[in-house]
Amino acid sequence: SLIYLNGEFQPAESARISPFDRAFLFGEGIYEVCIVVNGCFVDMDSHLARLDRSLAACGMAPPPERPQLEQVINDLARRNGVTDGLAYLQVTPGATPRAFTAVPQERLTLFILTQAQDILSAPHLSRGITVQVQPDIRWLHRDIKTVMLLPQVMAKRSALANGFNDTIFVDEQGVTEGSSSNIFIVTDTGTLVTRPLSNHLLAGCTRQRIITLAREAGMTVEERVITRDELSRAPEVFATSATYMVVPITRIDDHVVGDGRIGKVTKRLQDAYVAFIRALAAT
Ligand code: PLP
Repeated sequence: SLIYLNGEFQPAESARISPFDRAFLFGEGIYEVCIVVNGCFVDMDSHLARLDRSLAACGMAPPPERPQLEQVINDLARRNGVTDGLAYLQVTPGATPRAFTAVPQERLTLFILTQAQDILSAPHLSRGITVQVQPDIRWLHRDIKTVMLLPQVMAKRSALANGFNDTIFVDEQGVTEGSSSNIFIVTDTGTLVTRPLSNHLLAGCTRQRIITLAREAGMTVEERVITRDELSRAPEVFATSATYMVVPITRIDDHVVGDGRIGKVTKRLQDAYVAFIRALAAT
């Protein structure tokens, strides 16, 4: 299939990135993942707005194709025949000598790939996932969506090794987020709770969409820290991300959440999210 790299649609097999690329040498890179359903990208404007914020936060220039970026991503998906799946996009400062503060002189790197995937029929949507809880060992700029993902890779590998699907991170206050998702609980009274935005977590585009859809449906949403105790007592817990959409969490460490099946409120929000996506594709 084709990728988009440095201004060109090209076969992935013959594409080249310099070994001096600063993302390779220093982990200096920003990425985004956005899903496409029925040929329609979901909340692409929020993802591109977050790309701009991440780039600005680490002093990186936006790619020259930024004004047409939405078009470029759509073109790539169309050329690859991907109507259902995802786009991955990465921006780096490009190649410099291997020196921390070297100033990029050449073109920055913009890499986009698309991947076919049947997003709406993923088994975990109904079956849910199991998670382990681990201390959040990451840095304190988790609001920047950087390719510096070693802690997340380690957390996901350790989850699998321990017999879980994924990892939830906690700090001294409580839940920060999942290893690649945001976390919500539903309280006994049906209130949704998720951590307020700060440098301690990524501002998930799906998180924001779910908050909006929940409020439109008349639910109460509180943005405050979820303590570990609340997490283990909550009748429903779910994770949100572009690729997870809304996924029920059915087991946390050795404790079953609710009756171990998708909860009523979670199901309602998942349905609302799918309906929102289908409506996009219909217009
Ligand atoms: N938190 C982290 C650490 C993530 O990596 C992600 C997505 O990959 C999210 C949250 C969810 O963000 P979004 O809903 O924009 O995909």
